[in-house]
Amino acid sequence: MLRIGSGLDVHAFAHGVPLWLGGVLIEHDRGLAGHSDGDAVVHALIDALLGATGLADIGQRFPSSEDRWRGARSTTLLAQVWGELSSAGWQLENADLTIVAAEPRLAPHIPDMRSALAAALGTDQDRVGVKATTTDGVGALGRADGVLAHAVALLSRASA
Ligand code: MG
Repeated sequence: MLRIGSGLDVHAFAHGVPLWLGGVLIEHDRGLAGHSDGDAVVHALIDALLGATGLADIGQRFPSSEDRWRGARSTTLLAQVWGELSSAGWQLENADLTIVAAEPRLAPHIPDMRSALAAALGTDQDRVGVKATTTDGVGALGRADGVLAHAVALLSRASA
């Protein structure tokens, strides 16, 4: 049985917080605002995994109304979600992620992101694709108001 899921997340840039993207700490003058570490890339991936299996989304699973998720490292949440899904028999065929960001330049960080995400999922890097693009200056993302991340994940499970 195959199941596909997609996830989308946007976080605004904010001063005074570190920039976490794809599980990697990136040197930049602003980070992403959020209840957790603001890692929109990991959040999109979590929603793709949850969506593929028909489970409630990240906002319901880790509500921002709950203090215990404040400042949580998103890769920890990803590993927790994936632990549950893999215990239920799901395997990751592959995930493919696209990040839309006017800044900073992300190309140098993509190998580290693939490594961090694959580690959280307990899988090989060749199953986790990450690419980055810009909107060529168009719109709020083009003005670097924030970062958008989109994820697609294909899961499989042996039929009962
Ligand atoms: Mg988010």
